[in-house]
Amino acid sequence: MHPLKAPSPDGNRVKKVLPSVIDEEQSMFVQGRLITDNILVAMECFHWMKKKMKEKKILMNEKPSKTFNPERGLQQGDPISAYLFVICADVLSGLLKKEAVGGGSIHGTQVARRAPKISHLFFVDDSILFSRASVKEVEKLLEVLTTYLKASSQVVNLEKSEASFIRNMRDEVKQMIHNRMWNRDLVMQCFNRNEALQAISIPLSIRNPMDSLIWYRERNGEYSVKSAYHLIKGMEEAEGAGPLNRLKETIWKVRMLPRIKNFVWRLCKDILPTEANLLKKGSCFETLCPLCSEAPESSSHLFFLCPFAKRVWFAFPTNTRVPENVDVVSWMEECLGGKEVRVDQLLCICLWKIWGARNKRVFDGKDSDPYCVAQDVMDAAWECEVAETW
Ligand SMILES: [Zn+2]
Repeated sequence: MHPLKAPSPDGNRVKKVLPSVIDEEQSMFVQGRLITDNILVAMECFHWMKKKMKEKKILMNEKPSKTFNPERGLQQGDPISAYLFVICADVLSGLLKKEAVGGGSIHGTQVARRAPKISHLFFVDDSILFSRASVKEVEKLLEVLTTYLKASSQVVNLEKSEASFIRNMRDEVKQMIHNRMWNRDLVMQCFNRNEALQAISIPLSIRNPMDSLIWYRERNGEYSVKSAYHLIKGMEEAEGAGPLNRLKETIWKVRMLPRIKNFVWRLCKDILPTEANLLKKGSCFETLCPLCSEAPESSSHLFFLCPFAKRVWFAFPTNTRVPENVDVVSWMEECLGGKEVRVDQLLCICLWKIWGARNKRVFDGKDSDPYCVAQDVMDAAWECEVAETW
């Protein structure tokens, strides 16, 4: 018999003599032995070998090669892979047999009264599963398949899979069974191939609830524009096309000290330790802006809305518009990356100096004069310029 073909009924006769003729190293299909015994022994062996293995060198053209670690492995096309596949498939066979013969929950088929019951036939990577046409048995089959697929990391080729019924099957029963499976044609029509295959591979709920539309970004399943906006923004960022990614490039191109770039980038990501951010992280107190004590200290307040920040920007020579209701990232997108390289530099240094004034107030208890801060910005930019020309 070809090693990959399904066993014939002779198998039952062979089975009886197997325990007395097969070495104890083999446990597959031998009555009274468990495949798990060998797995445990093998694990122990591999563990021991791993501990024992040392780096090796070999002589190549009479010169010692680089050191390497000897490893076990299997590459594609290795003649043994087909046999390994058969061995793995036997686990599925075992699971089905357990349900069919042991549990009686899958009945299989019988071509004649005295013929053997067949619950499944495997042809290398094609399989035929037989069961009674009842929702309960189909569910059991799906359960066994799911268990096997999860354990083996194999995937059912859904495009090639189908359900066939005997000829006199009632339409209502067919419909009930089909209801327990995805309507493959409809799913294929609605989505692109990859999405459809992903959808179909999700096992259907055993409770069989009514179909309904659910927006998974919201807890209550209802669609909201806000969550869709965040979804798209997240996708853009992941693809490298979102505003933060563009800003990152712009900021890194500005000629200034790396620590200022780093600060501006942290501001964009909104991870500066402002009071509002600390509150988000679980700080117990909400303290007001240390520079004006008029509002909670958020990034947009500290850098734009705070009277102190407004005065700094007012004294600033670039005519920069101070936004009333725009977040930091949107403002940077609008103002940075223009033709004037110096403007980018000045704006970044100005943000940095406002943060410095805030820290001076928080940590040293000292107030700064907004006009002096604006002057400081100009001086720092000038120093950068001098440093570059030297
Ligand atoms: Zn303030």
